[in-house]
Amino acid sequence: MQANRKRYVIGNWKMNGTREHVAAFFRSLTSQQELPNTEMVICPPAVYLSQALQAVVANPNIKLGAQDLSSYPSGAYTGQISAAMLLEQGCQYAIVGHSERRDFNKETDADIADKFFAAKTSGLIPVLCVGETHAQRLANQTNAVVVSQLQDILNRHGAMAFDGALLAYEPVWAIGTGLTATPEQAEAVHHLLRETVGGYDSSVAQRLPILYGGSVKASNAATLFRMPNIDGALVGGASLQAEEFLAICESNK
Ligand code: PEP
Repeated sequence: MQANRKRYVIGNWKMNGTREHVAAFFRSLTSQQELPNTEMVICPPAVYLSQALQAVVANPNIKLGAQDLSSYPSGAYTGQISAAMLLEQGCQYAIVGHSERRDFNKETDADIADKFFAAKTSGLIPVLCVGETHAQRLANQTNAVVVSQLQDILNRHGAMAFDGALLAYEPVWAIGTGLTATPEQAEAVHHLLRETVGGYDSSVAQRLPILYGGSVKASNAATLFRMPNIDGALVGGASLQAEEFLAICESNK
């Protein structure tokens, strides 16, 4: 991580947790001090956001995020949740384009771009996820895939779309599998992503936080964070335990 970019550690709980788990998790973090230059964010299931909001009042060093949002502001969209509703529940961030939503919910790059701009224009910080499947990596398509996943957004608003946003490189083969990209594999893709945005605007690219996601744990975070273009982590499974999440946040560069 470069000295001039902040570290972000974002926990994506996915469809896990109970009211009891939310209470215990935030209780463990109540006395958590602010970590210098580090943003700690938890994205619980939407139904637990209001409970989490009560908990983070006691600890404003933990921020809240959504795992997804609607691209629409309001209306007849059963089951969807708007950016404005998420803001009311204390969210500051919204994950968009997670590979599980691309896969299970068949979200396209165009759908994801709509959600990205719905978040951004409403004042939520979008966290755009990109990443290749195992088959795509084996076919040497990694670079083409991740660059293409930025394209709809760059085409609509150029690099400025990424000003104030976050990017997460999440190789699909490393999510929830226990397999992690090596720091060198991840760094190569992060460098490419920054260069791609830099082709439109180099200062936006230099400011852009790019997180790595895929089986990040306390035991492997430090070696990833030492890479010059890795600015933090998007963490699934390991973010469910408060001690493990904190250990990732506190990992040395
Ligand atoms: C994720 O779902 O974004 C993720 C990175 O999951 P895990 O850390 O469990 O691989």
